[in-house]
Amino acid sequence: MSRNAHVHTLEVVEVIKETDEAASLVFTVPDRLVDDFRYHPGQFLTLEIPSKRTGSVARCYSLSSSPHLDDELIVTVKRTAGGYASNWLCDNVAVGTALRVLRPSGVFVPKSLDADLLLLAAGSGITPIMSIAKSALLGGTGTVYLIYANAEAGAVIFGAELAEMIVEFPDRFQVVHWLASERGLPTVDGLSELLLTYEHYDTFVCGPAPFMAVCRAALREIGTPDKHVHVEKFQSLTGDPFADISVPNAGDAESATATVAIDGRSMEVDWPRETPLLDVLLARGIDAPYSCRAGECSACACTVRSGEVRMLKNDTLVDADLALGLTLACQAVPVSDRLDIAFDQ
Ligand SMILES: Cc1cc2nc3c(=O)[nH]c(=O)nc-3n(C[C@H](O)[C@H](O)[C@H](O)COP(=O)(O)OP(=O)(O)OC[C@H]3O[C@@H](n4cnc5c(N)ncnc54)[C@H](O)[C@@H]3O)c2cc1C
Repeated sequence: MSRNAHVHTLEVVEVIKETDEAASLVFTVPDRLVDDFRYHPGQFLTLEIPSKRTGSVARCYSLSSSPHLDDELIVTVKRTAGGYASNWLCDNVAVGTALRVLRPSGVFVPKSLDADLLLLAAGSGITPIMSIAKSALLGGTGTVYLIYANAEAGAVIFGAELAEMIVEFPDRFQVVHWLASERGLPTVDGLSELLLTYEHYDTFVCGPAPFMAVCRAALREIGTPDKHVHVEKFQSLTGDPFADISVPNAGDAESATATVAIDGRSMEVDWPRETPLLDVLLARGIDAPYSCRAGECSACACTVRSGEVRMLKNDTLVDADLALGLTLACQAVPVSDRLDIAFDQ
């Protein structure tokens, strides 16, 4: 068993009530962890939430803070009706609460902050979008157009902050608030009308599944190429990415041999037949990317350049990904005796 080096404990230094249903948790990062917690706008933290029933559950929360503006890390949690973790966080976290947290992760990140950005958010989906908007306005040069849908005015998170940003960046930032109480739920026709001249913008979409479906249809309608559209799905993790890592001792299990290229380095590793590659790398102290450790996200995706692997579970890679040789390091076990694997391809 070896300690999971991605797990750290952070303290909450402020809780901000954003709306009746949402609160922001502000974490301070001690000097020794500053490098571990550097992040890109759009990325998320994974929090461990104590539970009497199961010991703990893990949930991802996008950072609403901007690395261009905020010293602290801020996540914004909206209550899910009947949900365990979101309600626990909103009801129990106070100044001084310490939580176990995984380092920032995620690929819902603009390639360039200088690009023109179209941002489509609904409800708590504003969280990563807020980080992207603030970062682009402060650290980039492009235009940012945000459409933000909510049930009614009282549900709008960051309303005052958005209003201030419009005043500060009148030529570069435009916001349309779509309130269902006034104009009904967003429709494909209604959104297409608002989006008509934005088909060349780099587009980021985050919100409940029905909202994302309407956005995708509207973007298709106006001719936005799929490669310009990035989506972040909010869903609860089912696995335990905080668990310690268990890898058989050398010689105790039959192993394959893999050459692994990561972060510009290449190394040879013994890969026990029944152990996922991610666990092998983490146990050796290699800083491989990951988030869920349950085959549900694609943060640990890597390319099998030669050899064959088998995935224990795959809820995220589609046929086109598999055809490219992608696999999930958290689920991949070796079939061949020799393999060549590359991250960051
Ligand atoms: C990349 C990403 C970013 C996200 N960002 C945000 C964000 O910025 N803001 C936001 O609000 N949400 C965000 N989410 C969603 C968030 O992770 C949760 O899915 C959401 O808060 C709902 O979780 P919940 O536990 O409250 O509800 P549920 O997922 O509905 O919880 C129910 C689950 O918990 C179990 N459960 C219920 N009671 C208990 C108990 N006592 N002990 C143990 N288990 C129990 C149930 O069996 C069930 O499986 C994000 C998700 C992802 C993947």
